[in-house]
Amino acid sequence: MTLENKNLVTNFSSAKYSWLKSGGKISHLYKIQNKNDLTDLFCRNDIRSKSLLVIGNLSNTLIKDEGFYGIGIKLSGDFTNIHIKTDHMLVGAAVLDNYLSKFCYQKGISGYEFLFTIPGSIGGNIFMNAGCYNQEIKDKLLSVIFFDINDKKIYEKNIDELQFEYRKGFQKKNTIILYGKFKISLGDKKNIKNLMLEYESIRNKTQPQKVNCCGSIFKNPINQSAWKLIKSSIDESFYNGPIKLSKIHSNFFENEPNISANSIDLFISKIQKKVKDRHQITLEKELRIIS
Ligand SMILES: Cc1cc2nc3c(=O)[nH]c(=O)nc-3n(C[C@H](O)[C@H](O)[C@H](O)COP(=O)(O)OP(=O)(O)OC[C@H]3O[C@@H](n4cnc5c(N)ncnc54)[C@H](O)[C@@H]3O)c2cc1C
Repeated sequence: MTLENKNLVTNFSSAKYSWLKSGGKISHLYKIQNKNDLTDLFCRNDIRSKSLLVIGNLSNTLIKDEGFYGIGIKLSGDFTNIHIKTDHMLVGAAVLDNYLSKFCYQKGISGYEFLFTIPGSIGGNIFMNAGCYNQEIKDKLLSVIFFDINDKKIYEKNIDELQFEYRKGFQKKNTIILYGKFKISLGDKKNIKNLMLEYESIRNKTQPQKVNCCGSIFKNPINQSAWKLIKSSIDESFYNGPIKLSKIHSNFFENEPNISANSIDLFISKIQKKVKDRHQITLEKELRIIS
């Protein structure tokens, strides 16, 4: 069976799988199990000329209603594994945060407790420099291993060669993050577990649970909280209707499913305008909107 038949999903519905439960289709989504799949796929001339969209766990992505007509990539297989080496962990980009956090707890590895409460994948984390509770993925990373679709080669870059910023990690065009090499530091299992539970409890108290959202819609401006700026700029209507903000946290959605992605985008622009008018601050989106 060719890669085309075996690994291709056509008209993949992002609304079905995204955390926002909204979004257009991906015309061609290839499920990539290993490095050979990648080289096979990107050897093809018809593939290389198209634009690329890699998806992780779709917890921070909204695809506009028109859909994405390029090459979608979803890593699986080999990229869902974690290997413990002498001085680092090699973590596949498709590993989910919650899984890695629980794995580290089992092995008595500390420092990954914060990932217990983030619903992304390691690839998405490295792309976004995800973080919470004063920690970011860059603090744990030693290097990023990625595939460059132009020359079909795999490269490794050390963290000190990369410029990670707040919610902006490894965002090199035409590349697919395959693995992260992560630090290992041993800790007491009881303390690790307690910290995971503490983070979970803080989140349960401060953020809406089991709702259709993408986490924070906007990045926090320097020394400011986006939710406070939003709350002080909008009226009650922003908390009502099929697209709405959460009353628990004004930087979170609490949407109905299957809302048009373009309407969500428009709603986001309305919030930005309100905040700009009230505070003269332009909020920058954390959510990745794909058109
Ligand atoms: C309830 C909730 C709570 C959240 N809390 C937090 C939080 O506390 N802190 C935080 O930082 N974020 C938070 N988020 C946002 C989100 O979980 C993170 O941004 C996460 O890193 C996204 O991972 P993902 O796998 O879902 O990425 P996706 O949404 O699938 O993709 C995000 C971006 O990464 C790119 N990408 C994904 N995988 C790869 C890859 N292998 N190679 C190249 N590019 C790739 C995509 O193209 C896209 O541009 C939250 C989201 C939700 C729904």
